[in-house]
Amino acid sequence: MHKKLFIPGPVEVRKDVLEKMATPMIGHRSADASFLQRRISDNLRKIFYTQSEILLSTSSGSGLMEGAIRCCTAKKAAVFSVGAFGKRWYEMALNNNVKADLFEVPMGEAVTPEMVDKALSTGEYDLVAVTHNETSTGVMNPIKEIGKVVSKYDDIIFIVDAVSSAVGTKIEVDEWGIDILITSTQKAIGLPPGMSICTFSNKAKERAEKVPNRGFYLDLLALYKYIQKKDYQYPSTPSLSHMFALDYQLDYILNKEGIENRYARHIELAKMVRAWAKKHFELFADEKHLSNTVTAIKNTRAIEVGALNKELAARGFAISNGYGTLKDKTFRIAHMADCTIEDMKDLLKNINEILKLED
Ligand SMILES: *Cc1c(COP(=O)(O)O)cnc(C)c1O
Repeated sequence: MHKKLFIPGPVEVRKDVLEKMATPMIGHRSADASFLQRRISDNLRKIFYTQSEILLSTSSGSGLMEGAIRCCTAKKAAVFSVGAFGKRWYEMALNNNVKADLFEVPMGEAVTPEMVDKALSTGEYDLVAVTHNETSTGVMNPIKEIGKVVSKYDDIIFIVDAVSSAVGTKIEVDEWGIDILITSTQKAIGLPPGMSICTFSNKAKERAEKVPNRGFYLDLLALYKYIQKKDYQYPSTPSLSHMFALDYQLDYILNKEGIENRYARHIELAKMVRAWAKKHFELFADEKHLSNTVTAIKNTRAIEVGALNKELAARGFAISNGYGTLKDKTFRIAHMADCTIEDMKDLLKNINEILKLED
């Protein structure tokens, strides 16, 4: 039996979107490919409120994260981590010979604009990397406020991992001063895994021009230059299947569901899950910085999350245990992509039945 996914990626994908993945192939050097890729970029620019170029990569989001920190750090990167994915960015820097410092806050807390201000005031850094939505803890960092601090300083590139939030919660890329915003297809956009997307500002481009050794496949400047020259075609063969599905899904989001409705639905889902969690358990994250796409729940009843998931599986659902060291201390319910209010009611009702909790 298929288990409906309430895990923070890959997400449940609508049947009509899955079917678009089976579209017959076109040549990746054809006018059709240019047309498809240009339309995807134009629609993504609308969703991200940006004039920046859009880059697509046939890699998961981690690929573009690695490319971004490597291509745009000339001096030293300041990486702000609130959990597993922030640390990943720091490791990527070290493994690419990119100088970086890690600034961490305890799991469940958010990065403060003051922390960023203090780090930048040293003059040591020329890039700031922050996770927007920390999937391991359910924290959503105040990116807009952090962006304001970053913009006080000259020539700092601001890169944001929005893998588990973009297209599920509003992010105004240009207004918030974001140079590179990164996301993957298998999270809030609601597609299968295998492709990633980023915005790439003019400032990021100018910085990358000064950075030698940007790698090859994930050289964001090379991708940028190529799509300018070749009318949105990519240097190596991209996952056209994802592009067909992405193009279809962006049209659905912009013209059928409506982007504001999509964001409102995510907030409604988040509120539902938070209310349920507070009634029966506790929230793990700081309540001032709760994620709109995934909720981490403190396991105050010491339930066996594995056993719960087994029973849920028999009923056709899957949720997620805690991440890393939080494995049994928390569990997570994702509420992103095309998850409906009815889907969530159904899930919570089934959990209540299994754990013998009141509705
Ligand atoms: C899932 C996730 C990633 C990793 O993305 P991949 O597409 O699996 O490489 C990075 N950051 C965050 C916040 C995530 O949720």
